[in-house]
Amino acid sequence: MSLNLILMGLPGAGKGTQAQFIVDKYHVPHISTGDMFRDAISNSTPLGVKAKSFTDKGDLVPDEVTNGIVKERLAQDDTKPGFLLDGYPRTLEQADALSQMTKDLDKPLTAVINIDVDPKLLTERLSGRFICKNCGATYHKLYHMPKVPGTCDVCGGHEFYQREDDKPEAVKNRLKVNVKMNTPLIAYYKDRNLLFNVDGSKDIDEVWQDVDKILSTL
Ligand code: ADP
Ligand code: AMP
Repeated sequence: MSLNLILMGLPGAGKGTQAQFIVDKYHVPHISTGDMFRDAISNSTPLGVKAKSFTDKGDLVPDEVTNGIVKERLAQDDTKPGFLLDGYPRTLEQADALSQMTKDLDKPLTAVINIDVDPKLLTERLSGRFICKNCGATYHKLYHMPKVPGTCDVCGGHEFYQREDDKPEAVKNRLKVNVKMNTPLIAYYKDRNLLFNVDGSKDIDEVWQDVDKILSTL
């Protein structure tokens, strides 16, 4: 059976961090719309040009653009054993569009895992986040340092960067925009009996144990 998953949670909740563990154990492709936009922006593709003005400010990229890239991505062959959507859907319109896509592709959703964290914790999570330039692995200056200082645990790289939109002004707006949509989206998947909540305020390893417990029973 395929594992068709959504990882939900506010910016900084720990989706990317948990996605690395899920991909390692369950071998499903990680589909992060945020990563797709960042790649497009750094390669200056037409999609990147369209997305940049929104991502810079922490606003949502328009639904028709975002739905379009996800539709194309889900149609690729590597999603046969399943997929892990991260950061999508973020609006009810996107949730409806995804529902249509999964129907058309005959890839029904298996579960939605919501990483629940008090928004008050998120500013600190985002401002301390840094990322390996080579492989994209995510760290935190207080909560998740590389085992060998200055060296990425995953790829051995030595260069790291902070995301532009993790700087204070964009963070404020990102949290505002995302908090507004979060409650209706949670209700949407709860109504469809797909929702599993995980307490994302625990340590990274404990959150993973809770996520893994859910996935191993599906
Ligand atoms: P998201 O993908 O949801 O935006 P990330 O996985 O990038 O979030 O995590 C945001 C920041 O918080 C990163 O710096 C990460 O290392 C850190 N982090 C993730 N999960 C936890 C946790 N459970 N406790 C403390 N810090 C965490
Ligand atoms: P993320 O990496 O998930 O924090 O996303 C970074 C940025 O990409 C967001 O602030 C949005 O501007 C854009 N983005 C990512 N996913 C979506 C989505 N599902 N809908 C609209 N915009 C998105």
